[in-house]
Amino acid sequence: MEKEHVKCLIVGSGPAGYTAAIYAGRANLNPVLYAGLQLGGQLTTTTEVENFPGYPQGIAGPELMEDLRKQAERFGADMRYGVVTAFNCAQAPYEVTIDEEKVITADTVIIATGAAAKYLGVEDEKKYAGMGVSACATCDGFFYRKKVVAVVGGGDTACEEAVYLAGLASKVYLIVRKPYLRASKIMQERVLNHEKIEVLFEHNAVGLYGDNGVEGVHLVKRLGEADESRYDVAIDGFFLAIGHKPNSDVFKPWVDTDEIGYILTEGATPRTKTPGVFAAGDVADPHYRQAITAAASGCKAAIEAERYLSEKGLIG
Ligand code: NDP
Repeated sequence: MEKEHVKCLIVGSGPAGYTAAIYAGRANLNPVLYAGLQLGGQLTTTTEVENFPGYPQGIAGPELMEDLRKQAERFGADMRYGVVTAFNCAQAPYEVTIDEEKVITADTVIIATGAAAKYLGVEDEKKYAGMGVSACATCDGFFYRKKVVAVVGGGDTACEEAVYLAGLASKVYLIVRKPYLRASKIMQERVLNHEKIEVLFEHNAVGLYGDNGVEGVHLVKRLGEADESRYDVAIDGFFLAIGHKPNSDVFKPWVDTDEIGYILTEGATPRTKTPGVFAAGDVADPHYRQAITAAASGCKAAIEAERYLSEKGLIG
């Protein structure tokens, strides 16, 4: 297998990875960044980002990520396509396998692999994958112009996706399992005041039906209660927005995780249990999960990497 040595390897191309690359580049660490499956990370699947400081009018998610990438490249970060398929820290430098075909030895590794969309786990999601089931409204919403869709979830993502889809579709059902929304107040108001969105509180989607792709959803109201009721609603598209699973599996056992898979770090630092291996962004953050907090932790990880390399005498 082809081998290459790098001082600072960054895995992931969301706000955490790119910010780590900006800082590591400016510290002359010659960072190499592997983008992972989703170039630009989760923000490339969102529409308008209105809460990233510095953009008073908001900015489109993909545009923000493109700007961060260019900024990192300006300071010499080496951007590459590829996915980490194996990780071994038995001895330093650490071995990181890319796409099962290339091994990088790295003095420091910054894990910024983010998180992936969760599914409900009902069989029909697989059956109708690509035929009416999606976990990304901005990717697939276009196909549902003037059609009826359902979004599952009650958080900010679900509300954002419902509002986005309401701009395209004729009707949007928001399926929420609790009697309230978890989303921020501003997003709740947008959803509740939108004439095309109907919120179905205390509802669970338990299956889908249709001969040619999704034609409807099986719903249960007040699941498990004495007054539980079941009925079907005709829809053309079914969008999941029920949270995310951190992309940490390949890095175990060299990092510890919580029961969901979020990487555990030392206090407020990005240090993992393996010296020289740092975790930044959503892969290590079950609490905030914002672009700005991810960017901040990427910055911390790059500063930690520089200190580690300096203490080990690996940089001048
Ligand atoms: P959240 O974890 O905040 O919300 C997930 C939602 O899905 C909850 O309503 C949850 O219900 C529901 N859910 C989870 N599992 C199931 C299930 N099996 N069946 C039915 N419903 C389910 O995830 P989000 O992706 O919405 O947000 C993640 C973070 O990112 C949050 O901190 C959010 O604020 C932030 N965010 C910010 C944005 C912005 O500021 N522009 C945009 C998008 C996200 P329950 O409440 O019952 O647990």
